[in-house]
Amino acid sequence: ILEKEGVEYLHIDVMDGMFVPNISLGLPVIKSLRKETEALFDVHLMIEEPGRYIDDFAEAGADLITLHAEATKHLHRAIQQVKAKGLKVGVALNPATPLSALDYVVAINPGTPVSQLECVLDLVDMVLIMTVNPGYGGQSYIAKMDDKIKELRAIINEKGLDIDIEVDGGISAKNVAHVKECGANVFVAGSAVFNGDIASSAKDILEAMEA
Ligand code: ZN
Repeated sequence: ILEKEGVEYLHIDVMDGMFVPNISLGLPVIKSLRKETEALFDVHLMIEEPGRYIDDFAEAGADLITLHAEATKHLHRAIQQVKAKGLKVGVALNPATPLSALDYVVAINPGTPVSQLECVLDLVDMVLIMTVNPGYGGQSYIAKMDDKIKELRAIINEKGLDIDIEVDGGISAKNVAHVKECGANVFVAGSAVFNGDIASSAKDILEAMEA
């Protein structure tokens, strides 16, 4: 249904009951969904130390894997693991996590000149700004996140990077145009789509997005 309405990504929330209190679907469900659709699988890992499972999610059919900066002690390594699988990689930030989590400088090789050091932002295809605290559906968009999205868009533009800004949490037909104006370009809608007629809800959001 959603593919027909022009939805490009299937955003799949994976929760482990540790990083977030809730537990949600895992590998077997993703594997069986993969057989049903050609949609891009955008797998949002809300799990502790996601590096442990990257190979498994890649095998299950993920196209893009998003890791939480807060969930791993080795963000750079986990990003490299996703890239090594040939997949796109995203980094997610909880509402309370500052954008500076994307600044950490990474040495490519020992002896790399300072001017050539990369930061996390240089390595990712997408940044996911959580616009609610992760763990449960049906929460309201945190208005303060407007500033964070605007600031990130300004940084990306200034650096001339080609990085998507995805927003997740409380997105509906009512606020999607506003959030787009702040600088986001990938929108996750959960409750707003699935608590009602799926096709018409998705259509409403897509129309509001284009308006
Ligand atoms: Zn999500």
